[in-house]
Amino acid sequence: MTEKDYYEILEVSKTASGDEIKKSFRKLAMQYHPDRNPGDKEAEAKFKEINEAYEVLKDEQKRAAYDRYGHQAFANGAGGNPFGGEFNFEFGDAGGFADIFSSVFGDFMGGGRQRKPSYALRGADARYDLSISLEEAFSGLEKEIEIDTTEVCSHCHGHGTADGNKAPACPHCQGTGKVRMQKGFFVMEQSCPHCQGTGYLITEKCQECKGNGFTKTKKTLKVKIPAGIYDGSRIRMAGAGHAGIRGGENGDLYIFIEVKEHKLYERGDNNLYAQVPVSMCCAALGGTVEIPGIDGGKIELKIPAGSQSEEIIKVKGQGFSILRSNSRGDLFVKLKVETPVNLSARQKELLEEFRTISEDNCQPQEKSFLDKIKDLFVA
Ligand SMILES: [Zn+2]
Ligand SMILES: [Zn+2]
Repeated sequence: MTEKDYYEILEVSKTASGDEIKKSFRKLAMQYHPDRNPGDKEAEAKFKEINEAYEVLKDEQKRAAYDRYGHQAFANGAGGNPFGGEFNFEFGDAGGFADIFSSVFGDFMGGGRQRKPSYALRGADARYDLSISLEEAFSGLEKEIEIDTTEVCSHCHGHGTADGNKAPACPHCQGTGKVRMQKGFFVMEQSCPHCQGTGYLITEKCQECKGNGFTKTKKTLKVKIPAGIYDGSRIRMAGAGHAGIRGGENGDLYIFIEVKEHKLYERGDNNLYAQVPVSMCCAALGGTVEIPGIDGGKIELKIPAGSQSEEIIKVKGQGFSILRSNSRGDLFVKLKVETPVNLSARQKELLEEFRTISEDNCQPQEKSFLDKIKDLFVA
């Protein structure tokens, strides 16, 4: 099994249509076909890769799974949580994603599973990307989303057969999904080419779903996003993914949360950070600056007399909501002292006077800075 990107192998973009993929596959398969490149090991390897990539990308469900989880979607025997260890909310048992595919083409993917393929398969997991504002992440929200998904074909009840009955076992492999071939002294076992290793064979396909057992549909769902959710979080909605196949359970839906950038605030853990400009006089004499809070309220920011640029003021309890808690983090405001511009004659006059009485000759007042540059002048 290759580690390379299937789209790159087939020289198509991630958004390529089924037809484009097919076209590119044909072209490449012709080019690298072993018959055309006898004895060329590189071409042979390439040919295998092309086939492997096409096997996945030509199938809508497999392609969707690959888009979501990459090669891991098909990792044989991984048998588990494709998001191992990552942050999410309701993760219970996520098992089985890999199983869907390893049972479909287990040995083709190089695995060692010997069990009979199961008739019912779990549906693929689905993904939905949801972008929310920082305010929405702060307060939490309920949102209706519409997803493109699949549902069990009502005509054949998911069996894919014209009469709606269970699909019969494949007569070529007696339902095992594998066939044996004698090659010299060796008996080779390979995926049954008649049923592609599934173990069953539909002779008369359901017209409604073309034998897939599921049809495309759109669903509207209500999603609850908890207050304090982080950018990059995933919310799992069990059973809201693609339809199970031939009676299998549905896949899950994962909602990927993206929190948009905010004009004023940046989040760090449960705290908020903002940079606020203050006038020179306000910084020197002290005062109050009003800023909008993330909760929609107003914050009266007290600027102490003698505040410097870059100084940080901490406002307790005005930070971000803490997930699954009623408390909040803190807000840290960095001041940026503004130098007045476009002075009127009167303002200039007063500042000149201020300069004279402060005996200000443009030398900095900060002692540590003076100490720092003293050495530089001596040298
Ligand atoms: Zn059907
Ligand atoms: Zn078969």
